[in-house]
Amino acid sequence: MRINTISDNQLIFLGTAGGRFTVFNQLRKSAGIWFKINNKLFAIDPGPGALIEAIKHKLQPSSLSGIFLSHRHLDHCADINAIIESMTEGGHKKRGTVLAPYDATEIDPVILRYNRKNFTLINTNEFSSYDVDGIKIETKARHIHTVDVYGAIFDNRFSYIADTRYFDDLPNMYKTDIVIANVVFCHERKGFKHLSSDDIYKFLEVFKPKKFIITHFGLSFLKKKPWEVAKEISDKTGCDVVSAYDGMVVDI
Ligand SMILES: [Zn+2]
Ligand SMILES: [Zn+2]
Repeated sequence: MRINTISDNQLIFLGTAGGRFTVFNQLRKSAGIWFKINNKLFAIDPGPGALIEAIKHKLQPSSLSGIFLSHRHLDHCADINAIIESMTEGGHKKRGTVLAPYDATEIDPVILRYNRKNFTLINTNEFSSYDVDGIKIETKARHIHTVDVYGAIFDNRFSYIADTRYFDDLPNMYKTDIVIANVVFCHERKGFKHLSSDDIYKFLEVFKPKKFIITHFGLSFLKKKPWEVAKEISDKTGCDVVSAYDGMVVDI
């Protein structure tokens, strides 16, 4: 099997699993989204397997400029300590910035305290803009989920809509050419604060990006074949909607 890596101005899905069953049975990988802009390497949501997958895809965590953690659920953060340890060479080398919500570092800390040496830790807030090694990362409103969650716009190139229930401001907050959304369910499930593919129709009525990428699939969505669901949304809306797969590379 060919293993993709990325060049400058590209991102790669090192995981497309969402939901407990898909992630913790590794029906898809869960190592996050990694990208390079101006030859600066960043990782988003390094979930279970991130260190192994990164190395496999020739992405060296010791050269990371930053890590963006959307929230403290394990499918997003399980490998963050391993990645930080690698980024800072065991705390011996000053390197990198980690952005994470306050509750992920102070309330129920997922970044071990002994591992907090030699990188810059920033707690993300609503409607803020951060410059990390020359790359602009902008957060919007806090998402509607079971813990604090922020998505972000990265260098005005792509948006990452992390876990959330749908809300009306969502399309207006994330207006970029490429939009990536964590869409766990095919159809809305009452009581779960996650997007479903039905919500994508609502989003696209308000704003159509050049490319809308769905990822973070739960088991029921995987059974429905996300690529077929994406094609159906594309056909009905005229927007280029694609379903991500592990190892997928996108120009940004
Ligand atoms: Zn999740
Ligand atoms: Zn979550």
